[in-house]
Amino acid sequence: MSEEAKSETGSDFIREIVSRDMETDKHSGTVRTRFPPEPNGYLHIGHAKSICLNFGIAAEANGECHLRYDDTNPSTEDVEYVDSIRNDVRWLGWDWGENEFYASDYFEQMYLYAVKLIKKGKAYVCTLSPEEFKEYRGIPTKPGKESPWRNRPIDENLDLFERMKKGEFQDGEYVLRAKIDMASPNIHMRDPAIYRIKHASHHRTLDKWCIYPMYDFAHCIEDSIERITHSICTLEFEVHRPLYDWILNELEVECHPQQIEFARLNLTYTVMSKRKLLELVKNQYVVGWDDPRLPTISGLRRRGYTPEAIREFCRRVGVTKFNSYTEIELLEYCVREDLNKHALRVMGVLDPLKIVIENYPDGKTEMLDAVNNPEDPSAGIRKVPFSRELYVDSDDFMENPPKKFFRLTPGNEVRLRYAYFIKCHKIIKDMKTGKVIELRCTYDPDTLGGQAPDGRKVKGTIHWVSAKHCLDVEARMYDRLLTQERLDEVDENKDFKDYLNPKSMQVIRCKVEPSLAETKAGAHYQFERKGYFFVDPVDSKPGTPVFNQTVSLKDAWAKIQKKGS
Ligand code: ATP
Ligand code: MG
Repeated sequence: MSEEAKSETGSDFIREIVSRDMETDKHSGTVRTRFPPEPNGYLHIGHAKSICLNFGIAAEANGECHLRYDDTNPSTEDVEYVDSIRNDVRWLGWDWGENEFYASDYFEQMYLYAVKLIKKGKAYVCTLSPEEFKEYRGIPTKPGKESPWRNRPIDENLDLFERMKKGEFQDGEYVLRAKIDMASPNIHMRDPAIYRIKHASHHRTLDKWCIYPMYDFAHCIEDSIERITHSICTLEFEVHRPLYDWILNELEVECHPQQIEFARLNLTYTVMSKRKLLELVKNQYVVGWDDPRLPTISGLRRRGYTPEAIREFCRRVGVTKFNSYTEIELLEYCVREDLNKHALRVMGVLDPLKIVIENYPDGKTEMLDAVNNPEDPSAGIRKVPFSRELYVDSDDFMENPPKKFFRLTPGNEVRLRYAYFIKCHKIIKDMKTGKVIELRCTYDPDTLGGQAPDGRKVKGTIHWVSAKHCLDVEARMYDRLLTQERLDEVDENKDFKDYLNPKSMQVIRCKVEPSLAETKAGAHYQFERKGYFFVDPVDSKPGTPVFNQTVSLKDAWAKIQKKGS
């Protein structure tokens, strides 16, 4: 079965492992997973893949998924991130009930476990400087060198470790190392550091600790304490797995979870690392973590993406063991598919061109029926005002059209959506620039509703708004964050910021139908023929909505699939 086909049927290699374990009653039939973010940044769409996998597997097996903050590095973590993570996971539609945990709650236990290793002669306090430490560790193809402190007596180790905890030493002066094998071909097994001194205040434990466990030591203990059955992580941790298992074996814990690795999500035309995202936010390349150009969950939400679309995207991406890139067009396709079902249709003119219907009575207004959502008859209809002066989109008019242009051109008849047939007979241009600024047209009063009594056909239908009634609003048009498709292909000496797309956001003024004065922040619309838009929850004011372009209507994914097949 191809990977794609597997994900279509809802199965993958991890789900297969889990169901096998359930059949053989390996963990007395229970499944307990966890999503373990470090609160050092906002979550991104890559995390969504991990969230959907961990919470999804637990839900399918009637098990539990813990939300666990892996907060072992005080200097980069913050409560702002803790709160945003909780909010984002919940928004994506997952529920962890009471199972919210913090690695920092286990610091005492971790300390005791470290003492246990020392007592077993499996850990020692090392006095090498960070530079020496690195040098002694060696390179993968050459064995490392044993630290002169490797055989420090147990009592001395216990004493030093306690004094490390008491704050008697400076950062970096000592580290606690696991005593494994300096000749191991796996560099992670060469007496890795498991505790370091860091005089930093922690967002939860405050100044209680000045030593903090290293990730590899902490993570497996967290999993074991929480009795996780399947500890699912990304591929780069595959080489850490022997250490994960070594620590739990040496600690002789009761619960020894199974670590399983899968390929992380990479998306084209964007960045997917908290470090890079933080750089963009801190240096104000974007407006914040929720900038709609970012692949953060909060950015996607502000852009108008829906949880349903993101979950469907994660399902389609599936789970594999191979690192690869996923086309951003697939994500956009999922968004479009979802919004098509429930976004209300409205008319919005992005680049207004005025037209005057000369034979339509001045001062007259008709309220015409417009369908709210052809995909959902229960959405009903609304009234749209029609009058003598309208706006249409500039690109729906061409003075000298190519052959297949069926929209507005001199002498050609088109249908105005929900209204009449019109014909343009005069173009008014700016004297200086030669730019078309107005069209003079006539309408056929017998064509209301889009049909001519004599049966004559028109090929084009265009959208419009009434000039007198419409709302003038701000819209933010978004494009790719990067100009480069895959960051792994760029010149190593270049900075990813060199590939930021200068046109990733364009702010325009546009004209929308008056019904939108009543809209609320967070509403989704389809501007007919133009794309999906979202009422910005941050900058919109009552009566003055600001629209974020969510996604255009063009399905670029279909094209990519065709090319690939
Ligand atoms: P980043 O690499 O973006 O800085 P991270 O791995 O440092 O992220 P964590 O907070 O440690 O971020 O991640 C929490 C969980 O999400 C981990 O289990 C991690 O493996 C997973 N995860 C992070 N990035 C991705 C991704 N791109 N695709 C799938 N899972 C991811
Ligand atoms: Mg990490």
